[in-house]
Amino acid sequence: MAQDCLFCRIAAHEIDADVIHERESVLAFRDINPQASVHVLVIPKEHIASASELTGEHGRLLAEMFGVMASIARDESLSGGHRIVTNIGPDAGQSVEHLHFHLLGGRALGWPPG
Ligand code: AMP
Repeated sequence: MAQDCLFCRIAAHEIDADVIHERESVLAFRDINPQASVHVLVIPKEHIASASELTGEHGRLLAEMFGVMASIARDESLSGGHRIVTNIGPDAGQSVEHLHFHLLGGRALGWPPG
């Protein structure tokens, strides 16, 4: 756990979040400032600063995270489609330096993103 990392503290249940799915290594919770009717954040419990830090050793973890996201999309009835995105660094607007995938759905999503 990284000191002063918001998502590490949510993963440790030190800070409340609207958790919808939890596993030993992965947590999913609703975004506090939703950009669509479904906006869920999926994080690894271990501290990884961003997708740029991923290596081959994270393959199993990533597969689990994508499995969790597919399961959430089914549970949230996103049969018409959804988007999974991760921001890396300031130019992309990353505001929390702990890897997280945004799962967005429930409305038409424009492309290209802003
Ligand atoms: P990013 O800007 O890609 O780093 O995404 C960070 C996301 O975390 C934003 O969409 C925020 O709304 C969300 N967020 C920040 N604090 C919380 C919190 N305490 N609980 C849930 N979501 C949060």
